[in-house]
Amino acid sequence: MSEKVNCLIIGSGPAGYTAAIYAARANMNPVLYQGIQPGGQLTTTTDVENFPGYPKGISGPEMMIELQSQAERFGTDIRNGWITNVDFRNELKLWVNNEHELECNTVIISTGASAKYLGLKSEKKYLELGGGVSACAVCDGFFYKNQEVVIVGGGDSACEEAHYLSKLCSKVTMLVRKSQFRASKIMQDRVIKTANIEILYNTSTVEVKGDGQLVTSILIKNNLNNKLREIPATGFFVAIGHKPNTDIFKPYINMDSTGYIINEQGSTKTNIKGVFVSGDAADHTYRQAITAAGTGCMAALDAERYLASM
Ligand SMILES: Cc1cc2nc3c(=O)[nH]c(=O)nc-3n(C[C@H](O)[C@H](O)[C@H](O)COP(=O)(O)OP(=O)(O)OC[C@H]3O[C@@H](n4cnc5c(N)ncnc54)[C@H](O)[C@@H]3O)c2cc1C
Repeated sequence: MSEKVNCLIIGSGPAGYTAAIYAARANMNPVLYQGIQPGGQLTTTTDVENFPGYPKGISGPEMMIELQSQAERFGTDIRNGWITNVDFRNELKLWVNNEHELECNTVIISTGASAKYLGLKSEKKYLELGGGVSACAVCDGFFYKNQEVVIVGGGDSACEEAHYLSKLCSKVTMLVRKSQFRASKIMQDRVIKTANIEILYNTSTVEVKGDGQLVTSILIKNNLNNKLREIPATGFFVAIGHKPNTDIFKPYINMDSTGYIINEQGSTKTNIKGVFVSGDAADHTYRQAITAAGTGCMAALDAERYLASM
C-alpha cells in the first residue's frame, strides 16, 4: 500500500525548508525528506554572512537548525530518508530507501548540488576545519580581503570566481591543469587582463599546507617538468564544477547536459505536471542560499496553485 502525500518536498537545504514553511502555512500538509545531508550544503561551512536577517552572521549548521524549526513550527512532517526511485509515468510515485512507496499530488525537488573537490587529504582537512578551503568565492571571498589566495580551475566559473576574488584579495594565483583554459575567450581575456591575477598553466595542486588550523601555502607541481613549488596563500578556492543531485529524475525530467533541471522560465514548473524544482538543483548561475530560499518559496506557491486547479 502506498502512502498518499499531498506535497512532498525532497531535500532539507534552504530551498526545501523554505518551500516547507510556505507549504505548511498554506495547509498543504507537506512531508519533507531530509536525505543524507540534513541541512544541506551550508552544514559544511562555518560563517554565513550574506543571508539577510543575520547582521552579525551565523554559522551554517545553526542557520539550518533555525530554518528546520521554522518549518516544524507550522507543522511540516520532517523525516529522515532518501528518495531512491521515482516513477512519473502516470501518477507521481516515489520510493523512500527503496521500500516505502509514496503517491503524491505534488513534488518539490530541492535536492541541491554538490561542489566537486580535488580529493586531496589536506584539502579535506582544511575544508572540514573551516580553515581556508572553499568552493564558493562569492560566499567566502570576503574573509580573505587583502590576502593572497589560490584558485583551481580553467572553466568559465573559475574565471568568474578568480575575477571576483581579484577585487577583494591582494593577489590571486590561478592554477590551470592544462596548457590552456576551457573557458570562453571573453572570460579568459577578463582574467588575463587583470593585474593581480597570475595564471599558472600546466599546474596541479600537490598539497594544501597549513599550521594545523589555517591554510598558509599551496604546494604545486608543474606538469611538464614535475618541478614543485610552494605559493603562500591563506585561501584555497576550488572551482572545478558542481554535480546536481538529480540522477534519479533523469528518465522523466528535462535536464541540461550536466544534470541541472530545466524549469519553465519565470516559474518552478518542470516538464512533468505537479513536479516543481527549487534551489541549486536547477541553478548553475547563482548558487546561493538566498536564491535557493527564494525559489523554494516560488515552488510552494506554484504547487499550491496547481493543487487549487486540480
Ligand atoms: C562550503 C560552502 C559554503 C557556502 N557558503 C555560502 C554562504 O556563505 N552564503 C550563501 O548564500 N551560500 C553559500 N553556499 C551555497 C549554498 O550552500 C547553496 O547555494 C545552498 O545550500 C543551496 O540550497 P539547496 O536547498 O538548493 O540545496 P542543498 O543545500 O544542496 O541541500 C540539498 C538537500 O537535498 C537532500 N537530498 C539530495 N538528494 C536527495 C534524495 N534523493 N532524497 C532526499 N534528500 C535528498 C540533501 O540531503 C540536502 O539536504 C555555500 C556552499 C558551500 C559548499
